[in-house]
Amino acid sequence: MKPRSMWGAHGPISVRVATLPFVDESNESLYGLYDADARTITIHPEITGYLRAETLEHEWVHSVLADCGCDQIITRDQNEWVAMVLGKALASRLHYSKRNTHTP
Ligand SMILES: [Zn+2]
Repeated sequence: MKPRSMWGAHGPISVRVATLPFVDESNESLYGLYDADARTITIHPEITGYLRAETLEHEWVHSVLADCGCDQIITRDQNEWVAMVLGKALASRLHYSKRNTHTP
């Protein structure tokens, strides 16, 4: 899996692949996890392809929210919505920019 680290607002973030429960305590799908104390993103090993890229971007957005303190001033649901929307946007931008041969 690439990359093994990413850059966040407050410095490097480790990226690793390790087993996670597929659902969290709210019974929601858990494909990835950002640990702000360890500055580590963990991606479930069974998540592959485009979903893996989207999950990585989703967790990176969580790191940005934590680095700027925004995760503390909005609700958990709002954190998830921001991470979901921006994670999808970032993953699709990277995916389609690689396929667009007409980009100057
Ligand atoms: Zn999330």
